[in-house]
Amino acid sequence: MTIQDIQTVQELLATPKKIAIIPHRGPDGDAMGSTLALYHFLLKQNHQPIVIAPNEFPDFLAWLPGSETVKIYEKDKDNCTAILKDAELVFTLDFNAFHRTGEMETVLEQLTVPFIMIDHHQKPDDYATIMYSDTQFGSTCEMIYNFISFLDQKASLDKTIATCIYTGILTDSGSFRFPKTTGNTHRIVAELIDLGVENTVIPTQLFDNSSYDRLQLLGRALQNMKVIAEKQTSYITLTQAELNEFHFVKGDTEGIVNYGLSIKGIVFSAIFIENQEEKIIKISFRSQGNFDVNEFARNHFNGGGHINAAGGKSEESLSATVAKFEELVHQLNV
Ligand code: 5GP
Ligand code: MN
Repeated sequence: MTIQDIQTVQELLATPKKIAIIPHRGPDGDAMGSTLALYHFLLKQNHQPIVIAPNEFPDFLAWLPGSETVKIYEKDKDNCTAILKDAELVFTLDFNAFHRTGEMETVLEQLTVPFIMIDHHQKPDDYATIMYSDTQFGSTCEMIYNFISFLDQKASLDKTIATCIYTGILTDSGSFRFPKTTGNTHRIVAELIDLGVENTVIPTQLFDNSSYDRLQLLGRALQNMKVIAEKQTSYITLTQAELNEFHFVKGDTEGIVNYGLSIKGIVFSAIFIENQEEKIIKISFRSQGNFDVNEFARNHFNGGGHINAAGGKSEESLSATVAKFEELVHQLNV
């Protein structure tokens, strides 16, 4: 952020305001952590913030402080639309294009109040008055910490805010493993722990809360995994029937794609998940090293993300989608 940007934000926040804070659809730990961290921060500054998520957040994030206050647009459209129209300022966090909010997009497009974008994805759209958009960061939560520092408000950090920030840093960095994890990331985390963050409890809350069904589904996914050894690639498929068999609930497939990379020598992994209700195949891509899955997702599967983690979708059948993927992989220079 430039000094000018910081001043503009300070002016916008100088008087108490009704503020809407929005994560992307299908919010993850970073989206929920960043929006709730900002929520608690703005509450402390005497604003009237409210987090409006486009759709439900997964159960494994329900323990996050303040999650009970989050409004879900797709469950309560009239009320959420009214709140959005009444807002004097809108923060969009962990995404940079309105279409990432699904049906909420049409409401956001109509708003005329200032938008502040805080995000770490590539190629931001041009809707925000203030853009703190930087792909060098591993998480939006790390940027929220910086944002609070830029405003000279580090004194207002407390255990609650720190817990939300820690959650997004932890989840988006793959537990501090992904390449954008820096010394600074760890210095911030050290401060958060000093503020009381329960760093040995949070990973358990996030990662060790599987249902028996989820683990069985993971077992099936691993059995479905195919390896294209000569291209150092692996992929997993899950059909709607398989999801049904294990009583799939939201969040159950989170993270499964990463198992593909845990095979020795594999640098590119994908998972294809059939969604009969939305009539799409939802795809996640992960890579290790220089192979750019953001580019791959953008070019071939109507998606995007980051160099080592991206997603996309296909409106073709699962088998046609996988056939297309296999063909593309065989053309890769891995
Ligand atoms: P995931 O595979 O966990 O759903 O997403 C990995 C990353 O890719 C996330 O940073 C997410 O923002 C991005 N991503 C996932 N799905 C899509 C998509 O359909 N479009 C775009 N542009 N980005 C996506
Ligand atoms: Mn993120």
